[in-house]
Amino acid sequence: MRFASLGSGSEGNALVVGLPQDDGFLLIDCGFALKEVVRRLARLQLELSGLRAILVTHEHSDHVGGVFRLAAAAAVPVYLTYGTREGSRRLPTFDEQACRLISPDQPLEIRGLGVSPFPVPHDAREPVQYVFEDRHSRLGLLTDIGRSTPHVIGALAGLTALVLEANHDRSLLAEGNYPPSLKRRIGGDYGHLENQAAAAILEALDRTRLHTVVAAHLSRQNNRAELARLALAAVLRCAPESVPVADQDFGSAPAGWPPKRGPPTGRACRRSPGRWPPWLRRPRGRRLPSLLPQLPGWLQPRPKRPPGSSRRPCRRTPSISR
Ligand SMILES: [Zn+2]
Ligand SMILES: [Zn+2]
Repeated sequence: MRFASLGSGSEGNALVVGLPQDDGFLLIDCGFALKEVVRRLARLQLELSGLRAILVTHEHSDHVGGVFRLAAAAAVPVYLTYGTREGSRRLPTFDEQACRLISPDQPLEIRGLGVSPFPVPHDAREPVQYVFEDRHSRLGLLTDIGRSTPHVIGALAGLTALVLEANHDRSLLAEGNYPPSLKRRIGGDYGHLENQAAAAILEALDRTRLHTVVAAHLSRQNNRAELARLALAAVLRCAPESVPVADQDFGSAPAGWPPKRGPPTGRACRRSPGRWPPWLRRPRGRRLPSLLPQLPGWLQPRPKRPPGSSRRPCRRTPSISR
């Protein structure tokens, strides 16, 4: 499964998730103007004609602000909960005809991609986040959540990739110049995740298959990329600079963008080099690690590391291959 953030933060969010069989892509949220989305998609060599549907997490304008304008331009449906639809009516571009209602805890399938929404504590009417699943991988999206819950941890089990909110640093928020009421809102049970809370969620997750973690929804005023990286890297036991951050202006590098030579085979690739498909088979006499940087992000085997040994990079973010 391919994915990339087009931009992440309180000024606008959008996440591209590729559909199986190269059948276009979904967009999760859109807090950007139409022209800006088109420009950001072009960076990934994607066009509006490939968009098949938009899924919305909640009605805050950094997530829904550009959704209906985009849906009209691309003639695609908008999937959202009842509460999110009601909260979105205030938008001048709101279009009820485009809406497809989903239940906050009911999985659905969109063009062969499994989509599992799950409810989260956040100060919106009926907010959800999502897990996407195809035959090979399982991507979780978790931003805009005040506190973790057992339900959230359960929903994120068995992920291969995770886009995880690391919104603020507790001290920077406390010492910053936001009004007290806004500080309480951001740091409250229905606000946003601070770095250490994001790390605690990561720690609590089943990470046996997890290869890629992207830090997202960072506050420009109350966080620094290096602080978010440091917190997540401590759990992942990797070098902080190897944790990707989804930037407000530039989004994230595409991940899981496999070469066009053939389909990835997920678990079999990682666990049994002898059963690798022909396009990934290692040449005779070459050591396996020399090939690793060429592989898509989450197909890379996780080297066994004895406890207490030196840190290693989490992963390499593969560059787009087409
Ligand atoms: Zn947000
Ligand atoms: Zn929000």
